[in-house]
Amino acid sequence: MTAPPPLPPVATGKRKWDEDSTPNPPPTSPNRNKAQAHGHGFGVIAKTALRSDKGKEQNTRPAKKRREHVPCQPPTVREGGKTTRLSVEWVIERRIVWEGNRSREIVKVVSGFADQVEGTTREVNPHWTADRPTPPPCASLNCAIPITIAAFPNVALPEATILGNVRKEVADELRKNHSEYLALVPIGAGNKIYENARELTSAAADLINAIANDDSQYTVAAPVREGEPPHGARFAKPFAMILRRPSEELRRKLLGAKTLAFRTQGKGYAFTATTISPEGKSWVVCNYRGSPVTEETSRMAEALKAIGNQVTATAGLRTLANRILKDENIGHTAEERIQVAIAGLSLIFVDRLDENGRSDPVWQLHGRPLTSNGRSNKEWLRAIRRIDFFMDATTVLEQDKRPVSCVWCKSEIHTSPFCPIPQVKDWLGPPVSQEALTPEPRDTRTSREGKRGPKKGSKSKGKGKGN
Ligand SMILES: [Zn+2]
Repeated sequence: MTAPPPLPPVATGKRKWDEDSTPNPPPTSPNRNKAQAHGHGFGVIAKTALRSDKGKEQNTRPAKKRREHVPCQPPTVREGGKTTRLSVEWVIERRIVWEGNRSREIVKVVSGFADQVEGTTREVNPHWTADRPTPPPCASLNCAIPITIAAFPNVALPEATILGNVRKEVADELRKNHSEYLALVPIGAGNKIYENARELTSAAADLINAIANDDSQYTVAAPVREGEPPHGARFAKPFAMILRRPSEELRRKLLGAKTLAFRTQGKGYAFTATTISPEGKSWVVCNYRGSPVTEETSRMAEALKAIGNQVTATAGLRTLANRILKDENIGHTAEERIQVAIAGLSLIFVDRLDENGRSDPVWQLHGRPLTSNGRSNKEWLRAIRRIDFFMDATTVLEQDKRPVSCVWCKSEIHTSPFCPIPQVKDWLGPPVSQEALTPEPRDTRTSREGKRGPKKGSKSKGKGKGN
């Protein structure tokens, strides 16, 4: 079965060439640029060239360098004596993506303009695949232990999920020599299941030795924790068991299979295999809650269009994207760079249940990380997370600070009751019980590494905030 062809664009966004001189236009005027999409070709180029040279000492700049300030490629098309200026245009498209065998409809920004910007990456969202994975990658594994042969979803975990609350010395070593290790995150990982770590690590080692079937004897280590988890928490970090020095082939097999669910000694086990320093950084930007949130992709497209328009119109974000992408040698102008920043955006619908079991869904914004520099990346994410975008004059996209997370597989793009992993056909892994989910003490979620809860007795200024 093949994925259906891409659906037609459902919304478009247009901007005029460059408008750094506009300080911070009102957020609710997505089409205000249309009138300027034609004509003025030379005028705009001249303006851009002037602006980019402002304040620079021209005599210290080699002639070759100066040519880099010619703006986006190609800003104009010349036919005979006529010059037409290209508009900076992007559209929102519906797409079907696959998480294993499960499909989901998303909306995403598609920008032919940004794709042409020099240095831009074509990195794809690691949380899903464009096609259904058939046959499942683990079908080729030769293994004496019965395993679940199924197409499992991608695993894209932030580093904090793997190294969070791991003893510092261990975490440092794992980070430093990450290519010599693999992280194995058991389904439902947390302090509760490590009460019997030995059983878990030896079951995983048995499976790995059966899969590897070479002369090596592989061992799997339980995580070593840095601090005590909150009292009574089942799903507190650290999460990952560590496999040491897997052969290249074993590494490939485990990462290819993504999740291994198996049965040994009459019991079910499962873990997902991932690299220590994930190459595909998490693309999750933030979540929006409230009345506009629906599964209808036409509404999602409207929301994403509004987000894209407001991101490109926000002076602070333009400045930040310009600085970060300049350091990455991507693009030459602020306009190119802000277009690159929105080009990787997509919006997904995430089902979630509140304490009373009622539906309380969010829209989750995804974006291609602008940089591999962790600090700059965080800076960008924080800047976006500070803004409540508007869909129209009365509809606000309200930020939901609670991260989406799944206690079973630690994914950030679905919630525990909707985990697709234990729902695959012929699941041999451990049963996952919904009762185990609540109540869970706070602070066990996938938060950033090294985070400590407030000290006992310390005054909390933030009481009642966000309600
Ligand atoms: Zn899950």
